[in-house]
Amino acid sequence: MAASHSLSEQLTLDMQAWQAAGLRRSLPPDEAALGVDFVSNDYLSLATHPALIAAARHALEEAGAGGRAARLLGGGSVHHARAEAAMASWLGDEAALLFPSGYQANLGAITSLVGRGDVILSDARNHASIIDGARLSRARVRVHPHLDLGTLERLLAEGQGARRRLIVTEGVFSMDGDAPDIEAMLQLAERFDAWLLVDEAHSIGILGSKGNGACRGPHPHLVRVVPCGKALGVGGAFVVGGVALHDHLLNRSRPFVFTTAPPPAVAGALEAAILQARVAEEARTHLKRLGRFLAKGLGLPAPVAAILPFRVGEPEAALQLSKQCVRAGLDVRAVRPPTVPEGEAGLRIVLHAHNTERQCERLIQVLGKQPARPTPPARAQRELLFVVGTDTDIGKTVVSALLLRGALRQGAARYWKPVQTGEDLDTLSVERMAGASDSEQPLWSLPLPASPHAAAAAAGIELDTARLDASLSALRLKDHATRLIIELAGGLLVPYRIAPRLETQADWLARAGAPLVLVARSGLGTLNHTLLTLEALRVRGLEPRALFLVGEPHRSNREALERISGIPSIFEVETLPNLDDHPSQALDAWLDAHDLSCLWNA
Ligand code: PMP
Repeated sequence: MAASHSLSEQLTLDMQAWQAAGLRRSLPPDEAALGVDFVSNDYLSLATHPALIAAARHALEEAGAGGRAARLLGGGSVHHARAEAAMASWLGDEAALLFPSGYQANLGAITSLVGRGDVILSDARNHASIIDGARLSRARVRVHPHLDLGTLERLLAEGQGARRRLIVTEGVFSMDGDAPDIEAMLQLAERFDAWLLVDEAHSIGILGSKGNGACRGPHPHLVRVVPCGKALGVGGAFVVGGVALHDHLLNRSRPFVFTTAPPPAVAGALEAAILQARVAEEARTHLKRLGRFLAKGLGLPAPVAAILPFRVGEPEAALQLSKQCVRAGLDVRAVRPPTVPEGEAGLRIVLHAHNTERQCERLIQVLGKQPARPTPPARAQRELLFVVGTDTDIGKTVVSALLLRGALRQGAARYWKPVQTGEDLDTLSVERMAGASDSEQPLWSLPLPASPHAAAAAAGIELDTARLDASLSALRLKDHATRLIIELAGGLLVPYRIAPRLETQADWLARAGAPLVLVARSGLGTLNHTLLTLEALRVRGLEPRALFLVGEPHRSNREALERISGIPSIFEVETLPNLDDHPSQALDAWLDAHDLSCLWNA
């Protein structure tokens, strides 16, 4: 039996897969600037402003280098309180609470506002700290396509049974540079009795009256998270809202309660930064003018704020382009998955108060020769859909064939069963039923009809899950226009290996983080098996887009699952007449009677 990999071998393998996909990153040798700054988020050029440096020095000398303790245990200072008062006053709201970073502020606000039994409505392009906060909260997360308020409205209507509803968005999106309609979102929040959390990381200091951000002012349904490491040039982040919110966070937000207060120098610099940003009208006008100038030169729409995405598609092409800019003395960096969706790698050009038209002209010269792709191509990200079962032999393969045939009616699609156990080859069955060819081939075909770990042992091998990850990464990047339907083996929790540590299909699914459908047998025991599998999915942050009940329809099971499962779509697949003799026709008849569009993004 093959020896298992050591920790560092596993990590090296992982990194090789990352590198092969063009995703590996590293820090520049001495982290010196690589040229004119078109990369940092210091939009107003405040990081080096003498007033901020003097205020930081003053607070440092007066209150010491460190926060010394959590705020509730004496870690604060007059500088913290003054910075909070300055932020609340700038945003015209009742109170502000300072967190050590924007990441922590999002985690702290989201996890203390919602929990189990609640629902979070999140834009597909929200920042990682919002995604992580949502996962950590244990609320149910419903993601809507970027800026799609129609879908948001539908999801809010579906979430009316939840205890609380929290809509989360960015004021200006960090990678796309575009902005949502906050007023319309607030109206939805009011209508559905939801809260709206707006992350102002890239809008504060740039948009709004006196730079006070993307929101017009305080509102009873509004919570603002204001990270200060960008336009304010410092770091840390405030959560801004009413006094009740402030009191709640102070008591209940673990990322606030259990962390050392930010250093006084940070708080001191923040107070000065807020005063400077309030009066930075000239810098804001300059940024706007520069944005229009650069966008025109590159044939792109003018940016909403200070971020101009220049999409090229593949990560390698983006890296090469970034290198060309650096060779021309312009520090512009590539953004690649997972920071942006696959197929949308490119340059993230950032403008600053200190940039000049002359520098922008140089950038236009370098990039002008490249064809930019201003908007993502239709369905640029390869769409994956996992087919997950509550058990073995329950009809996953028929459902996979239905999904494949349905997807093929709309465009290109393929099937992949990475681990095949047993002599019957599901790939051939699915291809025959769906009238398809060209499937991805299994990574492992193991003749024993058993759990993957046992079938592998019987074949004298071990399943190396790093290979699964690497293959999935490669497939994600291949062929963006082709949807991929991936069928797991047996039930959700069957192991790929059990030593040196247990690794189940569910672990892989959680790492893959892709959409899924759940397939269950219709009949006795369905409720229990379905609810257990759902629970196992949800503790891993996974949410099925639909449930397929295969077999004789069972009305009370279906009705019960509609009421209690929280799965948005339930389909019944009874035994299809003619499946053996005329499989494609049998599938078509079912597809004609059902709408599977809810399973796909586009
Ligand atoms: N939210 C958004 C939208 C961001 O872009 C960032 C930083 N990239 C953060 C939150 C996190 O802020 P911080 O860097 O202060 O942790």
